[in-house]
Amino acid sequence: MDLEKFLELMSEGGFFYPSFEIYRGKAEVGGFYDYGPLGVELKRNIIEKWRRVFIYPYQDFIVEIETPIIMPKIVFEASGHLEHFTDAIVECTKCGRKYRADHLIEEELSKKNISIKTEGLSLEELDQLIRRYGIRCPACGGELGSVKPFNLLFQTTIGPYSENTGYLRPETAQGMFVSFPKIFNLMGRRLPLGIAQIGKVGRNEISPRQGLIRLREFSQMEIEFFFDPENAKCPYLDELDIKLRIIPEKDVAAGIKEPKEFRPREAVEGGIVPNEWMAFFMGLATIYMNELGIPLDHQYFLAKLPQERAHYSSASFDQMVYSERFGWIEVSGHAYRTDYDLSRHMKFSGYDLTVERRLATPKEVTEVRVYPNPQRIKEVFGNEMPKVMQAISRVDPKWLVNELNDKGKATINDYSITKDMVFIKEERRKIYVERFIPHDVEPSFGIDRIIYVTLEHAYTEVNGKPLLKLPPDIAPIKVAILPIIRREDYVRIGKLIFREVSRAGLRAVYDDDGTIGSRYAKYDSLGVPFAITIDDKTPIDNTVTIRDRDTKAQIRISIDRITQVITEVISKRSTINEIAKSMGLQLIIRE
Ligand code: AMP
Repeated sequence: MDLEKFLELMSEGGFFYPSFEIYRGKAEVGGFYDYGPLGVELKRNIIEKWRRVFIYPYQDFIVEIETPIIMPKIVFEASGHLEHFTDAIVECTKCGRKYRADHLIEEELSKKNISIKTEGLSLEELDQLIRRYGIRCPACGGELGSVKPFNLLFQTTIGPYSENTGYLRPETAQGMFVSFPKIFNLMGRRLPLGIAQIGKVGRNEISPRQGLIRLREFSQMEIEFFFDPENAKCPYLDELDIKLRIIPEKDVAAGIKEPKEFRPREAVEGGIVPNEWMAFFMGLATIYMNELGIPLDHQYFLAKLPQERAHYSSASFDQMVYSERFGWIEVSGHAYRTDYDLSRHMKFSGYDLTVERRLATPKEVTEVRVYPNPQRIKEVFGNEMPKVMQAISRVDPKWLVNELNDKGKATINDYSITKDMVFIKEERRKIYVERFIPHDVEPSFGIDRIIYVTLEHAYTEVNGKPLLKLPPDIAPIKVAILPIIRREDYVRIGKLIFREVSRAGLRAVYDDDGTIGSRYAKYDSLGVPFAITIDDKTPIDNTVTIRDRDTKAQIRISIDRITQVITEVISKRSTINEIAKSMGLQLIIRE
């Protein structure tokens, strides 16, 4: 691939390019990218395709929501991001430049032909590597200071009070955890339940340098999928006609770099993937990337070792896709977050996030119960008594008892509850249901990386000319309408066709400028899968040709069938050749 030509096409064609161009050199602008008109349309199509693979077929138990991108501090205290969401940073003692320590070490050592994997190393271990290999500031040769943690959360204030700290979310996920009880109720209090969200996130990356791969503001598509760990069966697992290519955890530990193939069920039964739902989403992820044009041998799942995993994860796989420019990159992360997040939010909010499980055989248990003392509550809170009673009844009794024992009081909805306001009782009883915190698996996709690898895979050159073989269903523009020459009657018909297909919902472009060959080449390079040509036969018999971007084959059809034929080719993922065959039409090759 001619990288320069490719990047020029991406920028000049209006796919993507660095943001704040006019302030380059005057402001810190790294890690932000714009999408132009074609980029926006491609992104929209890639997102819609994700919905078609991950949500719509399962819409009875997977739903999409939208939550704020700014969240109060307590959410990230609960989620653990304030404590754990850090990268290691190191500063030059001479010139003050700052570097991401792990990347710096890998880069500097690779110059000396030493290959070291730094993922998961502690601050001390990174520090030792810098000292052992005498790594110095690559810019000025100065000595490097000690390695420190750097939190990647973007901080802001909410409202006019500076102490009211908020953060830009680093993942959409916390919105789903926080609103779990709301959506669980809306969806009929049943598990499994998938809550999806698509949206922007921010991570204050130390030194983003890889274009769309490492951004400070990017978009994610995530599902938090809640299930009962004692009933983790996925009825759709065997429907997936796909093999997962995985480097399992023990192979990673042994330094094996070749993925092995598993049917999704085999991966679960062989203990490679911890549960059926996780294997299911990994299967869908494989199919999804494949339908975006990524061949199966250009993707695999890489298991993460315990020290490499995020703080919330008990098992993780990165979906890796090959990029000619960047090597293997992670496009999606699949984490088994267990009950970590809901437990933490339950602890920090005091809100009961457990759900009910019906028992096959009843159990005898001792339970802590908390009953409000109406008389005392009335004395303290007066008319607010009913509200206070209700608030007490909503919290987890175990949490309330712990708070009262530890702190002597518990704060619920701004009411300060003390021991004298409740009766705490231990009761033995037979239970037919029990409460538990649902477990969660998370497939998390970075849209920008997916856009990048999709475009890179679509890009080829034929006789030195760029051709963007985007799958027609995600191509930003579906059809170019091109009169063979700019003649009044051709122009009139061309514009009519343009209106007609636009009204039918197809993204189209009309162009009568330049030779037909140069226009074909232009729209091939922008990934437009079909070109309609208005030629000398059109005014006579109301027919046009449709040209296929990839094969250059053309068929001649009547004008009133254009929308139907194009829509059919796109939705059935078939080709003009197949359509010609099924309609008994002759293929014309003119180039
Ligand atoms: P993570 O939560 O780190 O597993 O990220 C989930 C997904 O978001 C990854 O698989 C990437 O596709 C994407 N991603 C993470 N960090 C960035 C970044 N700085 N820029 C662009 N995409 C990212």
